[in-house]
This record gives sequence, C-alpha cells and structure tokens, in this order.
Amino acid sequence: MVPGKARPGIALFGVFILFITGLAQADPLPPRADRVVDYHIGVKLDPFTRRLAGTERVTWRNPSTEPVSDLWFHLYLNAFKNTRSTFFKESGGQLRQDRAAKDSWGWIDVTSLKVAGGADLTGALTFEHPDDDNAFDQTVARLVLPEPVAAGGSITLEIAFTAALPQVFARTGFKHDFYLVGQWFPKLGVYEPAGMRGRTSGAWNCHQFHASSEFYADYGTFKVEMTVPSNYVLGATGVRTAEKSNGDGTTTYTHEQADVHDFAWTVDPDYTVVKGTFSATRDVTPAEYRQVARLLGRSLEDVMLSDVEVTALVQPGHLPQAQRHIDSAKAAIKWFGLWYGRYPFKTLTVVDPAPGAGGAGGMEYPTFITAGTSFLMNRWPFDRVRGPEMVIYHEFGHNFWYGLTGSNEFEEAWLDEGINSYSTGKVIDLVHGADRGMAELLGLRIGEADTLRAINRPQAKYNRILARAWDYVPQGVYGFYSYQKPEMMLRTLEGYLGAETMARVMRAFHERWRFRHPRSEDFFAVANEVSGQDLTWFFDQVVRGAGVLDYDIGSAVTRPVPVARGVFDGTAGRQTVSQEDARRKEVAAEKGKEQTWETTVVVRRSGEVYFPVEVAFKFAGKPVERQNWDGKAPTQTFRFQRAEKLEWVDVDPDRKIALDASWSNNGRRITPDARVSTAWTTRWLFMAQNFIVWLGL
Ligand SMILES: [Zn+2]
Repeated sequence: MVPGKARPGIALFGVFILFITGLAQADPLPPRADRVVDYHIGVKLDPFTRRLAGTERVTWRNPSTEPVSDLWFHLYLNAFKNTRSTFFKESGGQLRQDRAAKDSWGWIDVTSLKVAGGADLTGALTFEHPDDDNAFDQTVARLVLPEPVAAGGSITLEIAFTAALPQVFARTGFKHDFYLVGQWFPKLGVYEPAGMRGRTSGAWNCHQFHASSEFYADYGTFKVEMTVPSNYVLGATGVRTAEKSNGDGTTTYTHEQADVHDFAWTVDPDYTVVKGTFSATRDVTPAEYRQVARLLGRSLEDVMLSDVEVTALVQPGHLPQAQRHIDSAKAAIKWFGLWYGRYPFKTLTVVDPAPGAGGAGGMEYPTFITAGTSFLMNRWPFDRVRGPEMVIYHEFGHNFWYGLTGSNEFEEAWLDEGINSYSTGKVIDLVHGADRGMAELLGLRIGEADTLRAINRPQAKYNRILARAWDYVPQGVYGFYSYQKPEMMLRTLEGYLGAETMARVMRAFHERWRFRHPRSEDFFAVANEVSGQDLTWFFDQVVRGAGVLDYDIGSAVTRPVPVARGVFDGTAGRQTVSQEDARRKEVAAEKGKEQTWETTVVVRRSGEVYFPVEVAFKFAGKPVERQNWDGKAPTQTFRFQRAEKLEWVDVDPDRKIALDASWSNNGRRITPDARVSTAWTTRWLFMAQNFIVWLGL
C-alpha cells in the first residue's frame, strides 16, 4: 500500500460516511479502561532550586476478590539520588550514549502521607528492594495500612512530596530552562490478583528502577495542576482543561486524561508551539479504509479512526523540521490506528528536547512523546535521513504497545519494545519505502531490513528474548533481545503466516488486551488461535529459547555423469568398457551437448533453531524451481540428474526469514556471474550505519 496523496471529493465522502454509519457492528475495542487508580496532583516548579513541591490525592480500588493490607509505590527519582542506587550500580551513570552530570542528583521525599481524614503514616513507609539485595535503593516504598482494603473497596491517600530534578539524564531532568518531568510523583505499582498474568495468588508487582528497564502501572484517571513561571511554554499528557495566571509571575495549567497509566510534562521558554490536526476523513482515503478493512476482515466501522489534535513543541534551531514532526505524528496516528485500532485520545504532544538534553529524547508517555533531532537534519544532505521520523513513529507506537496494552516492561520488554519495533518498521517501510525508509543520503539507500541485517550475528545466542530486563548478560545486549531480535522474529512469523494472517494476529492481540496487562503467553495464544495452527515450536525456540537461526549451503557440485567403466553382463553377453572407450563417449556427449549432469547440493542447518525453508535451484536455460525442506535435520542433500547443469542454489530465496543470522551464506553460484558483487554495497551500508549511530539517532 502507498500512503494516500489523493484527497477524496466531499460528495464521495458523504456517501462513504452514510455507508459506514449504516453498519450496526459493535466496536470490538473496549471503549475505556477498568479504572483502578485516580490521581489528583498539584505541583509547583521552582526554577531556581530545580525542585518540585507537590500534593497528591490518590485513590486506589482493590481489583481483587480478597482484602489487601498494603500499598506499594514507585519513587523513581531516587534512582538518581546517589551512586549506591540499583540504577546507578547497573548503569555506571551512563545510559543510551548519555552521562549523568557531575554532582547533579535527583530524589523524591514523601514529606507527609495519610489516609484521607486519618492519622499521619509517613513514618510507616519502608523502602523495599524486591529485585536485589541492595538495601541502599530507595526506588520502591511500601505502606502497611492500618486496615486492609476490602475486596472491591477503595482507599484514598493524601501525600505531600518534594523532589529534586537532576540534569537531564535517562529520560528526565533539566537543561538550562528546559525541563522534562517524567517519573516524578509517587506512583502506585500494579496489584495483580490471582489469575492475572499467571499468578496463583494476589501480590503487588512493583520493581525497582533499573538501568535497562522501563515501567508498569495501572490504568485510571489523572488530573494534574502544574504551576510554572508564566514565560514558560508547557506541554503535558492529556487535555488542557484550565489555565490560570496567579498574578505572581506564575501560571497554573490543568491537564486531565482518563484511561492512561502515567503522566509526564515539559516546560521551556524557547518552545515554538506548532499545531496540526490528524483528520480521520481527510488524512485517510476511503480506499485506504477499505483496503485495511479487507486485510483485517473487519467492517469499515471497526477500522474508522477519530481526529487527534497534534502539538509539536519545537526548539528554535529545528523550526525547518516542524512540519516533519507534525507529518510523522500524523502518519503514525494513521497507520497504528488503522492496523491495531483507533487511537482513543484527543491529543498528542510531541516534544523536541533542548540541545544538549538528548537524554530526554526518544521517550514515551501516554499522549506525550519526546522526539529528537539535530540541526543537521534541517537541510541537504541529511534532510532525508529519517532520524526524527523514525523516533516519532517509534515513540508514538508506544502509545499502543505499553500505553494501551499495558504489558510489564520490567519483565517482558519485548512485548512493548519488540512489538513496537516491528510496527515502527512497517510504518517506515510503507511510508518511505522498504529499500530506503531509514535514509537516503548521497545516493545511498538504507531500509529498515538493512539495519536489522547489519545487527544480527550468528554469535548472538547467549540470551533469550523472554527475560527480565535487568538479567541480560552483559547488560548491553538488552537492546538486541528486546528490540531487534523480536522485530526479526515477528518479521519471520509474518513471512511464514503471510501478511494477512499476521495483520489479523496483531489486530486481535491489541483488541483483546487493550487497557489490560498481557504477558507473552497471551500473545502466543492469540497467534495460535488466529492463525489456526500451533506455533509453540516457533515461540519455544526463538522467544523462550536462546538459539540462532541460520541456514547455509554446505556444498554444491554439478558435474557430467561419467560413462561407466568395467565389465558388464547384459542381454548381448559380457562387454568390457575400457577407460579409453568411456572417455571417447564422454567427449562425444560433451560436443553433441547430450551430456547428463549430476548435481548434489547439501543445505545445512548451522544454527540451533529449525525452521521450514524453501530452496531454489536454477539450472541452465530453465526456470527457477523450488523445493521445501522442514529444516529439522542438521543437513539435507538434494540430488538431480539433468541435461542441464546447475547455475546457482539459494536457501530462502525470497528472504522471508528475517531471523536468519547470515544471509551471505544462503546462496552459492556455480558459474561466475557479475551479479555476485555485493561486497561494496555491504561495506557502504556499514559505513552509513556507523555514521547514523555517530549522529546519535
Ligand atoms: Zn521504545
């Protein structure tokens, strides 16, 4: 499919709208979350001390059928409190090419806490460290309640807190007058009742803040009042419902949003506010709606989107890229929405972090994402290096994968990062072209699949996709196993199931788990159900298992069938064929082109993972023929006796198996051919990729 450039006429659209509203099918997407938490927070930013002073009134509803006697909170900012926090020990003060600034610490203190209308319980808070034995870590706190919360009952707490923000590092903090305020308030963990995510008994799931992990929280409503200097431009999760000047040089902005599990905000006096609207009727053509409905086997009403107000907060040095930011956000709203289900929120805010605040870039919060670019991208030759686009597609995608399907990012990062990388790659391929989606630079083209190829290695077999984020050894491979390997795994699955079945698997998974907390088994179950086959063999090997998938050609020999020599007993009696006789016949056959050729090809499974493969054979002057192999045995030998000799053989000729750790060993050419020279292209690709990494995208 190609993104819509043609705009439908108004009359045509009228007919179209009549048609879709005439369908009475129910929306399979749940309209709202089962709201477990309700936050009402007031916070004031002091720009001189870089501190926050906040009050939080939080109501928690016990979603289980048993009384619950304690509450667990995240106090993430304490990850930046000192070098003894688990986050610091794991990261060494370095994350995503970014370093913690010297002597710039972040922390959060709960200064008062009580059950609404009750006694002060601040002293009863204890720091917990459920993931390690680090008694110095203060990122998780627990409160044993004076009385348990009854099944289905609720409790309201009144909390006061102060927090210090670090210089921007690992998603949050300040740089000059720029602030990205994320993970800043006492946030409840998730109480998982028996039966949820495989639990046999109910318990809180509240992990410490780690270097390589993100978040997990419950759905509910947020109302946040932020008081900041009046000359600052503010952006935040949700819809602005009030704005009040306080007459003292500060302004209070109120934002509200339901059915989300987190809240972030930003201020900077230098932002230029650029607005755009994603229009469900102007930005998607009727043909595109029909195409997607057909692909998914759904009604037009099911795939209908809704309008979204897009706000980009752009740094002055990046203004030439303002439209790129808006267009990328709109493309993401469109394709994620069409494929997985309508984006249900009214707003999306895209933040362009200040120069030097790269650590705040490339991060996602509900209805609020941070992008990241460089002034280099303003003009040729980098204007088609799609760093900003890629980041915006990806971070917006998290509004689906983790935002709307609230998987546990600590324990199963692939469910958000991996599925989201796969989805992002599909948007890049579709909008910009599979062969050039990532970059077009000085005649060089790099597609999403090229970057995956460059990163896959036959040696990458010591970790599993399904692992807790802080358990990877070494920690640095978290990215490969949480982003790229799952992306290749899902691309491989798509090649195996076909585009239509795969699209329906993804759609069904999203619909079924929107506003809920899926785990890996839930994805596997949906894939099995929708595809109508048991794919356990696949997921066991490549998600639960550590093995590598790699097929290669062990040998390929094509040679004339020799005339038999020796003594033969036939109907005409005993005959002897001498060496000389045989050779004469062979030369005659060669001259008369009546030679018979014997071809033997050995294909090898050189990785641990088996996967059904196709093998293509090209004999001289004949069309390509294909044979299937279940790929299970260590080797498979293919033998032919033909009048033609073999020219080349190729395993997985359509390159459908994205997980194959090395494509360079898939083919073997018997006769030399000009088309073999790919070495230069490959070298160029690597150089270009290194350059992009160097730019820090
Ligand atoms: Zn991500």
